[in-house]
Amino acid sequence: MRELMKQAIEIGRKSIRLGETASYIPELGRVNKNQLGISIFTTDGVRESVGDADVRFTIQSISKVITLAIALEKCGFHKVFEKVHMEPSGDAFNSLVKLDLSSNYPFNPMINSGALAITSYLTPITDFEEMLLISRKLCMDEAITLNEDVYHSEMNHISRNKAIAYLLESKDIIALGCVPETLDLYVRMCSLSVTAQSLAGFGLILAQDGIHPVTGERVLNENVVKIVKTIMFTCGMYDGSGEFAVHVGIPSKSGVGGGILSVVNQRMGIGIFGPSLDSKGNSIAGNHILRHLSKELNLHIFS
Ligand code: GLU
Repeated sequence: MRELMKQAIEIGRKSIRLGETASYIPELGRVNKNQLGISIFTTDGVRESVGDADVRFTIQSISKVITLAIALEKCGFHKVFEKVHMEPSGDAFNSLVKLDLSSNYPFNPMINSGALAITSYLTPITDFEEMLLISRKLCMDEAITLNEDVYHSEMNHISRNKAIAYLLESKDIIALGCVPETLDLYVRMCSLSVTAQSLAGFGLILAQDGIHPVTGERVLNENVVKIVKTIMFTCGMYDGSGEFAVHVGIPSKSGVGGGILSVVNQRMGIGIFGPSLDSKGNSIAGNHILRHLSKELNLHIFS
């Protein structure tokens, strides 16, 4: 496994120069784009990490998976999907065009509009401290904290998400007066500092349908995990989700911090960190790495 992971890293490394870090959040633009790490935790107890797998970076959109899981647990299916749909949007993650023109509801929970709506359902019943504790448990990583620099950097460049949130408020999807606290919780969740290893840990819990591999405890309801993995598969890689599903075929979620969380059902969790992004916002090296691993280990969901 280790040799294959090293080989995959070398393949991924070749594409790093073709991408860029996400400079629309200035603090992310300052990250060294040459970093690259993979971590794999398997259901039979193997844990391998190669490269920069213990370097901390911000989880960004991968937090949308955690938020969705917590909302399904706490608010239930009906509330979560009453006003947020489950269809791929085909648009950029921060687009608000279709939200206004062709649909009154966010397309899915993996894009900003859907995640903001779902975050707003959580603000009356939980807070960041509790979400942080749950995130640590799900990622099997007690060292996860808020990256204050990224949090402030994003809050200082919040106009687009603010526009989305107020549009949602105008459509009665976010309750009146709840936009400021929704944005704050959303950005805090995006600013959690994780590692490729943390993502592999979370991936393993999802691969095991919500069972913690060390304690044997059920940390997420089986049906919640099923919904989360399905939405990751159809919508997790931004507007590159369809092509990714064909070539890689592993339910995954990426973030503009350069992380990718991947779940191979009943087999393994994979975490990747590679902050050089392609034009859709996915880790460019991560994409190549996953293609290679999928082919060599037969990980495609339909193979
Ligand atoms: N915090 C980022 C934003 O809302 C997350 C985007 C992402 O990772 O896709 O713009």
